[in-house]
Amino acid sequence: MSAEEFRRFGHEIVDWIANYFEHIDELPVLARIEPGDLKAQLPSAPPPEGESMTAILADVDRLIVPALTHWSHPSFFAYFATSTSAPGIFGELLSAAFDVKSMLWRTSPASTELEEVTLDWLRQMLSLDEGLSGFIYDTASVSSMHAIAAAREGVERRIREEGMSGRSDLPLLRVYASEQAHSSIDKGIITLGLGQRSLRKIPADNEFRLDVKALAEAIAEDRRQGVLPFCVVATVGTTSSSSVDPVPAIAQVCRQNSLWLHVDAAYAGSAAIVPEMRHILDGCQNADSLVLNPHKWLFTPFDLSVLYCRRLDLLRRAFSLVPEYLRTPEQEKVRSGSDYGVQLGRRFRALKLWMIIRYFGHEGLAARIREHCRLAQLFASWVKSSPDWELLAPTPFALVCFRACPAIGESPPSSTTRLDELNEAIMHAINSSGRAFLSHTKLNGKLTLRLSIGNIRTTEQHITQVWALLNEQLKKLAS
Ligand code: PLP
Repeated sequence: MSAEEFRRFGHEIVDWIANYFEHIDELPVLARIEPGDLKAQLPSAPPPEGESMTAILADVDRLIVPALTHWSHPSFFAYFATSTSAPGIFGELLSAAFDVKSMLWRTSPASTELEEVTLDWLRQMLSLDEGLSGFIYDTASVSSMHAIAAAREGVERRIREEGMSGRSDLPLLRVYASEQAHSSIDKGIITLGLGQRSLRKIPADNEFRLDVKALAEAIAEDRRQGVLPFCVVATVGTTSSSSVDPVPAIAQVCRQNSLWLHVDAAYAGSAAIVPEMRHILDGCQNADSLVLNPHKWLFTPFDLSVLYCRRLDLLRRAFSLVPEYLRTPEQEKVRSGSDYGVQLGRRFRALKLWMIIRYFGHEGLAARIREHCRLAQLFASWVKSSPDWELLAPTPFALVCFRACPAIGESPPSSTTRLDELNEAIMHAINSSGRAFLSHTKLNGKLTLRLSIGNIRTTEQHITQVWALLNEQLKKLAS
């Protein structure tokens, strides 16, 4: 493509994106297609000859956009609502142009050093201590898996060299996490070959926080039975309800038992940049590692997850492997990305985060998170003051867990089943209207609607609109 053509299409695409954001409110949030619809419209074989960018971009409009669920829509309230942002998009664009493989310092000095500096800025914004060094992975799932791998390396049982299978000298290794922990912890343990029985799920209290007494008892019982505890995962902002585990008390149990403490703050960690919310990371000064996802609540386009780790040396010991063709004279003096994980090449992700932090500034980012929390409190107050709705969990961040609970008699099926069905029907009706997108979970056996606010374009008007939609559907479906 000539430079002239590149400029022409580049401008066209930037205009297209600006237009997309200006009119995104008019699009249905959830894709209105059936499984297989897009595939049926695409040729089953690749084009033998190149096609024009004009034709390709026309197909983005015609085929791709209708098949999108719009995560950037301000009425996307499902899962954890997230948000890209203009500086983040520009960062991605430049990163694609540079096409850096951040594997060794010399293949990527800018990426390596910018990552260190940007993550240190973020550490300061979060008021985390200097002992934690940051490293970027793609997702929290991968960050947590690497944290558990580092913890396992610290067990000093030559697992890197000898593995775990066929060994009579190796007891069952144990990781502990609350029953509310994210499934990525289970997957990390499966991936590391520890096996699901290595993960002991600890009960949570009635506000969905890990029960520390039960944790201490489980560790003691395991030790008595010859199991080798090595890691505890605490969560700040669980996926179902955004509950916060009691990290200071968990840290104390870890210290008493010499266990690695990993904190999964993938969703809520970002809120600690808001000065009055710093306390959410209390106890994390005693954590060995902590993950948070700027791609969840720091206006960073997917993907970018940060692992802060106190023992980068253990992470390096678990993963560093330098074949001759990657040896460099400076390797002892510099950080090389490939030493800290399974990947060799890594994307230049730090660029977008650096641009986002510079563009918004600490205060600008904090103001947006604070506003999301205000909107969530506002919505929760409407739920609380309505006789037809109830909150099913506290709202410490910007996620509201609630359900419709109109008076319905006690005739069978049970009221729980009928309320579950009613709430599911309300959610499906709203989602299929295209005007908002909500998701659900189960809390204390009750189907729970989740309204998560995290998009940079979400305003009070969007919250008001979804509240009206919920009440409209309740009236229709409960009658
Ligand atoms: N941890 C928590 C608490 C989460 O809520 C999620 C996703 O929502 C994850 C981990 C996994 O995040 P990722 O998609 O970055 O792997």
